Amino acid sequence: MNSDLYKILKQYWGYSSFRPLQKDIIDSVLSNKDTLALLPTGGGKSLCFQLPAMAMEGICIVVSPLIALMQDQVKRLNDKGIKAVSVVSGMHMREIDQVLDNCVYGNIKFLYLSPERLKSDLVKERIAKMQVNLIAIDEAHCISQWGYDFRPSYLEIAEIRKIKPKTPVLALTATATKEVVKDIQEKLEFSKKLVFEQSFERKNVAYVVSHTEDKLSKMLSVFKKIKGSGIVYVRSRKKTKNIADFLAKHDITADFYHGGLASELRSIKQESWINNKVRVIVATNAFGMGIDKPDVRTVVHMDVPDTLEAYFQEAGRAGRDQKQAYAVLFYNPTDKLQLQQQFELKYPPLEEVRRVYEAVCNYFRLAVGSGKNAVYDFNLNDFSSAYPFKPIISYNSLKILEREGYLALSEVSVTASRLKFIAASDTLYQFQVKNKKQDEFIKLLLRSYSGLFDDYVQINEATLAKRLEIDKNMILKELNYLHQLELIEYIPLSHNPKITFIEERIDSKNLRISYENYQRLKENSFEKLESVLNYASSTNRCRNRLLLEYFSQRNAKDCLVCDVCKKHKTDEVVFEKIQLKVIEVLTKNPLTLSDLMNEIINKSIKEKDAIEVVQWLVDNGNLIYEENGKLSLSFKI
Ligand code: ADP
Repeated sequence: MNSDLYKILKQYWGYSSFRPLQKDIIDSVLSNKDTLALLPTGGGKSLCFQLPAMAMEGICIVVSPLIALMQDQVKRLNDKGIKAVSVVSGMHMREIDQVLDNCVYGNIKFLYLSPERLKSDLVKERIAKMQVNLIAIDEAHCISQWGYDFRPSYLEIAEIRKIKPKTPVLALTATATKEVVKDIQEKLEFSKKLVFEQSFERKNVAYVVSHTEDKLSKMLSVFKKIKGSGIVYVRSRKKTKNIADFLAKHDITADFYHGGLASELRSIKQESWINNKVRVIVATNAFGMGIDKPDVRTVVHMDVPDTLEAYFQEAGRAGRDQKQAYAVLFYNPTDKLQLQQQFELKYPPLEEVRRVYEAVCNYFRLAVGSGKNAVYDFNLNDFSSAYPFKPIISYNSLKILEREGYLALSEVSVTASRLKFIAASDTLYQFQVKNKKQDEFIKLLLRSYSGLFDDYVQINEATLAKRLEIDKNMILKELNYLHQLELIEYIPLSHNPKITFIEERIDSKNLRISYENYQRLKENSFEKLESVLNYASSTNRCRNRLLLEYFSQRNAKDCLVCDVCKKHKTDEVVFEKIQLKVIEVLTKNPLTLSDLMNEIINKSIKEKDAIEVVQWLVDNGNLIYEENGKLSLSFKI
């Protein structure tokens, strides 16, 4: 068996050894154990389920919330000659039916599912018929209310477990606190607790927080000082372009990227950055998932992200090649105010959410009791101005409705138009005999693409137009005509974001949004916001330690390379001197802070430095405040 694994590793991936923990995780899965794998970004999580699935008979179901990532993985597997498919929101029912059918009867090895699809009876019925060898749950923290990205549809996975009780589960995540780790295993109904955890420490990444009012010029000097490829994260789409222009003006090649751009354009921008044609990409958080660029030297955050988990994941894209890299966050106190204001908008009152639900159903003219599985192109701004709602309120209300499983929002999810012949072959033949003009066109289709009777096949209208030497619009006309006659099903490519109604429309009075859930989520994300603000505003704790402790890694040491450690290193002589003096004084007696200051401040020790060192010693547990308010030495010193 062991040699088989290495053979598969070499054959499909071209690697001859495993990364840390990969082998242990794979062995665990292969011995049918439910397993939780905590690996940092870039640790090689996908191999942990893809390889054992290849070593077993049957199909592996992969649940993932990120459509772009799923499609990327499906493509990579297909490129290796491995059959993989995906069912995501935004797809039409007939198409889904076809894909699932192929999973039951075809020899497909991987079925990628977006979590909200697990609710569908059709999906459950088909899964029951499949020979499932492994259920892999990517981004498994989404199942936990305590995670930073809770998605209720993840809870549906427990139902899938009931359908396939003997199939092991592999949950994977790069970011989970202790509570989340526990919660994941409970919610996924692990038969026994089993966690493989790799340290989150990134020894080659230096974390830096810079407090400044002039972020732009500070950022510029970072890129002047540190050579090589970089990412700049910002919170708004507008800023991506402004900052990219600013960098370009200062001779640093830069481009911008956000979720509002057409997918083709996004791929082009991504590629030119990956191939180092562009040095810096300025992006919203839509950028980065599934991108594997080893030589990123700097990840800059111009704005504070919502959570430390998000920060850690984004900053973690620096230095995957293990060479020295930097993660820089720019911060000023106005950021805090803005974040707190935005936070309020994120949780609109439930009444408002109800109104948005009603409005969006009316917008698509859905009657109560109808609309289940309907998919529509959705332009948030058009919708918002039609009613009107503030776009941010509509967006956040729809996000809450998404969390509650009523609908799903997706950005562009498909990359080409699709086509399938749905008429029986004799009907089609009779039509061809009677319609000479269409006959030629149908023959062209059948010559150009194979499998059109069995499956939805991706087509390219422009190529067809070239072959027939006619205008592309004529091709579209022909396709739409055949579609109307129900001879084919033609799904044109659309760059618009989509909305999928998961449930039929209900009377908004009956909308179930648990107030308790909502409140708890709100509190939970408030705490997360506090943690990230604490990281950004702190000046005394090693950044690396702060991050690791947040992820429950208690034994971390000072990294000596972050801005805080560096500061202490630069003033090492002063620092040492004050520290020695503090120890000398406090060894005799515990003292209040002001008494201690009186004792240690002298001509060569300034008050400002003394306060900073004492604060640092307190923050790092070297000094403790006793109940009577006096400072004493801890055992650590
Ligand atoms: P994660 O999902 O943990 O962020 P990925 O699964 O995307 O990471 O893997 C990151 C990169 O590491 C990919 O390019 C992958 O091919 C590569 N990789 C994974 N396992 C190995 C291995 N055993 N040897 C070499 N490269 C590997």
